[in-house]
Amino acid sequence: MSMNYQKIPKIELHRHLEGSVRLTTIADEARKQNLPLPYKNLNELQRKCQLREPMNTLMDVINVFFATQPILGTPDAVRRITFELLEDAYKEGVYALEIRYSPEFLTHNHELTFADALMAIEAGIADARAKYDIQAGLIGIVSRMFEIESGTRTLDHMLAFPNSFIGFDLADDEKELDFDAFKTLTDRAKASGLGISIHSGEEIGTEVNVVPTIDMLSASRIGHGLQIIRDDSILREVKDRGTLLEICPTSNYLTNAVTSVATHPARVLLNKGIRLCINSDDPRVFGIDLSNEYKVCMEQLGFTKEEIQTTLRYALEDTFLNDDVKKYLHKKHFYFL
Ligand SMILES: [Zn+2]
Repeated sequence: MSMNYQKIPKIELHRHLEGSVRLTTIADEARKQNLPLPYKNLNELQRKCQLREPMNTLMDVINVFFATQPILGTPDAVRRITFELLEDAYKEGVYALEIRYSPEFLTHNHELTFADALMAIEAGIADARAKYDIQAGLIGIVSRMFEIESGTRTLDHMLAFPNSFIGFDLADDEKELDFDAFKTLTDRAKASGLGISIHSGEEIGTEVNVVPTIDMLSASRIGHGLQIIRDDSILREVKDRGTLLEICPTSNYLTNAVTSVATHPARVLLNKGIRLCINSDDPRVFGIDLSNEYKVCMEQLGFTKEEIQTTLRYALEDTFLNDDVKKYLHKKHFYFL
């Protein structure tokens, strides 16, 4: 039995703008902007900007992001990559997408201000929405690799544009976390009405961070979180709280969070009562699209059609998009849930 995974209507809550830039766009923008990038042809570009084999540490993945970053310095490029991200998603069957990005990373070493980048992103969203029936919202990311001042600067920016962002995220390295410092940020974000989704429990050994991230940092959703499978008591606590895990199977394989895609615990977690949904994380970085992740879930992990629908229902329930948008999505595209 073969299935057209493109055709399943989807909601995606976890996709990074900086990890979704088409390879052809990287090459084209480099040419347009006259940038001396460290690659000579598309093969070499692919090697530098894509992970096709599992890497050793999360830092290796982060370096792949830095290989793309130089082209993100103009409003036109940022507007273009945002439009293309939504166009790609729509063609994968996505009717609602939460786009996340790090203002600090996007504008790093560029003349672009946070506000310039945001205006360009919003223009890209408007371009896409004029052409496609796709809903979109923005999540601002604070990197745990940068100083806490960077987090404060990012959150100040987000709160200065209260109608632009729907959510707040912490990403990157989660070893030796200073929960008290990050709590000052998440408390402010929450008080301002932002949804909170935080990367946690991604690498092996980080499952201990998940419950404190929910309790201290007010996360209602966890990016990844799959490592809770290693500890029954943590799993039970996450289940009791009803927290949603944003699961990204291929991403977890390529960052060595699981030994193979086929051994990903997503379905086991779902059947143990954990709420979760399916996401691509960084399509270009991992050389995949969201349809591929649905295929992996159904053909390799054994998700049934009903289980896929359950994950979609959770995504619709937990999206940070507003109630009017949720009602529209339910009526127009997800009436079967
Ligand atoms: Zn992510």
